[in-house]
Amino acid sequence: MKDVEFFKIKLSDKEHETIRSNFVEHKKFINKNIAIARKKSKGTYCKYCEKETSSYCNSHSLPAFCLRNISSKGLVLSINQLVDFPLMDFEKGVNKAGTFHLICRECDSKIFREYENPEAYINKPTTKMLAQIAMKNCLRYIGKRLEEKSIFELIGDQNKNVIDFVDSMHEVQSLDLDEYEKEFNKAKKISKKNFGDEYYLFFHEKLDYVVPIAFQSSIALVVDLDNNIINDIYCNDPNYKIYGLHVCIFPLEDSSIIMLFIDSKHQKRYRSFYKKFNRLSLDDKLSIINYIVFLYSEDVFLSKEIPNDILENENLISTAQTTLMAVNFSFSKSTTEAAKETYNLNNHKIIPNLLSEKNKLK
Ligand SMILES: [Zn+2]
Repeated sequence: MKDVEFFKIKLSDKEHETIRSNFVEHKKFINKNIAIARKKSKGTYCKYCEKETSSYCNSHSLPAFCLRNISSKGLVLSINQLVDFPLMDFEKGVNKAGTFHLICRECDSKIFREYENPEAYINKPTTKMLAQIAMKNCLRYIGKRLEEKSIFELIGDQNKNVIDFVDSMHEVQSLDLDEYEKEFNKAKKISKKNFGDEYYLFFHEKLDYVVPIAFQSSIALVVDLDNNIINDIYCNDPNYKIYGLHVCIFPLEDSSIIMLFIDSKHQKRYRSFYKKFNRLSLDDKLSIINYIVFLYSEDVFLSKEIPNDILENENLISTAQTTLMAVNFSFSKSTTEAAKETYNLNNHKIIPNLLSEKNKLK
């Protein structure tokens, strides 16, 4: 046994069999509980305009045009195509992919308008656009955390033995939520003006081909390219802050936009990463971004046109199954030290690079 074990979203053959043999019942049970949790996590106010609302907008975690540009017959693949968890959806309609419900329809149609317009990418994105992206990334996380909170409450209600665990999860989630709220309010303020250098866009590339994946999220990088810690995500100090890296992969009609940016105030934390990153060749940069997305996030969407030999690539599957949840069996090694091995970015070449020209959409 390793000193520290990182959970993989992976079921054994037997577990697969158990679920498959009673698939409908399991699926019903999960859907019912998710529906209850979602309902509980919903507020009555729009997170943006703060007006009371009875129906929230089905907001997308990334611009719908990105999904349309890689979809086949209105469908894209979710990460579950690789992770293979039988109770999750494999294919998603463009309208349902990566959504959250926190703001009213009126706000949703206004507050992301500049960045959700494909025409806007002829030039380098403005501060306003970057703030809109950051705002969206925060909202997506706030939505996720609120849902998780209600799911844990449900688990606690149904099983009193885990009440301590549920309480400790609540504490972590509340701290997280506070941070996202602060970041959201800051981005909201910046998005209302047309100038400023509050965000540092250190990578912006327009590729003259369409990549077969779409992605937008903020990722808390654990290590830089020399394997030094950027974010100590297992730090117990409540005053320690985690700083995210905003990653965008936007397929346009006949080109793609790839961007990395951070809050300018977080430059010190990320300096060693972006300095070394900026010195690499474009191929290596794209390969590292591709690796970061599959290693850290479950929010990537894939085109159904991606060939099977890539979708069945063992290293890609194993990378996509990696999670940050860990159990530490050792007294000598910290979880953070172990995370350095799991999150070592120098392994980026072990998975197929879906951002390279070789894998473009025909
Ligand atoms: Zn609103």
